[in-house]
Amino acid sequence: MAPTAYDEGNIFARILRGEIPCNKVHEDKHALAFHDIHPQTPVHVLVIPKGPYVSLEDFSAQAGEAEIAGFWRAVGLVARQLGVVERGYRILANCGPDAHQEVPHFHVHVFAGKDLGRMIKPRDK
Ligand code: AMP
Repeated sequence: MAPTAYDEGNIFARILRGEIPCNKVHEDKHALAFHDIHPQTPVHVLVIPKGPYVSLEDFSAQAGEAEIAGFWRAVGLVARQLGVVERGYRILANCGPDAHQEVPHFHVHVFAGKDLGRMIKPRDK
């Protein structure tokens, strides 16, 4: 089951509170970006909103306009800051059990630094 209530003890909430460290890439009023602890690609950064949102649909329903705009601006800014725009990058958000979301705080993965292949292999449908 996908969690419905926000868990204040999740690892990203703890990072936001400064209880555990992160390898920070960017921070502003609405977003924090940091390197994934288990990178799947040469560049693998997570961008998270600062507010307590479990997943994308929670964020889109509950966050204010400034938070939503600020968050997505930060994702684009991080891509530029990482220097991956010319060669390309992929953003991905896992939401809920079928997507194997591990951390119940909405986040966007930014993958880059190699040819990422097709989005989903045809045989995986
Ligand atoms: P998911 O919820 O499946 O979209 O992915 C959660 C991601 O968070 C995984 O790629 C983990 O490697 C990453 N992760 C978990 N703990 C940390 C941490 N303390 N610092 C950075 N990344 C983390």
